[in-house]
Amino acid sequence: MALTLQASDPAAPDAMVGRAGSFHEVKRAIEQLHEAGATVEISTVLTRDAVTHLPQTLTWLATRRWKTWLSAFMPDRDLPAPEPLHPTIARLRETLADHERATDAAVLSFVGVALCAVPARLRDRAFGAPLSHGGNAVSVPACDRCAMRPRCPGVSTSYLRAHGDGDLIPLGARPA
Ligand code: SF4
Repeated sequence: MALTLQASDPAAPDAMVGRAGSFHEVKRAIEQLHEAGATVEISTVLTRDAVTHLPQTLTWLATRRWKTWLSAFMPDRDLPAPEPLHPTIARLRETLADHERATDAAVLSFVGVALCAVPARLRDRAFGAPLSHGGNAVSVPACDRCAMRPRCPGVSTSYLRAHGDGDLIPLGARPA
């Protein structure tokens, strides 16, 4: 059973999904599934709002020994105004690095997340098709110089429309 939890502050996920009480419904569902012995997959989609709340969310999950899949925000259609919805890669990188202990404890996997946003020692938890977000493959100069390109999901075209490629940092030297 897979459930999405966007934040641990009750008011935040309710505002994100536009429905009062959604946080408590998801929390109770997770608890009941655990009590029933079911396997529960929690996921958190990395919208800008979710990243704002991420330190608190990861700490909250870690104290319960629950883990989440952090998934890149990948809209399946062009958004008229993508900028407010996508966190910058720099902001995500900084958030994960500043809260690496909670990230280590509470993140099961990074799904479709650019590897230059993920702390180095946690990159073995990352997966996603190399540089292909639903056909929205990106190839920017930074990626062309990056040793991680063969296994990195990169960023979506929606992200590039919102923020450009200035925050992508090539990791190491790409083998010739
Ligand atoms: S520079 Fe490009 S290929 Fe390298 S880690 Fe960042 S997004 Fe991935």
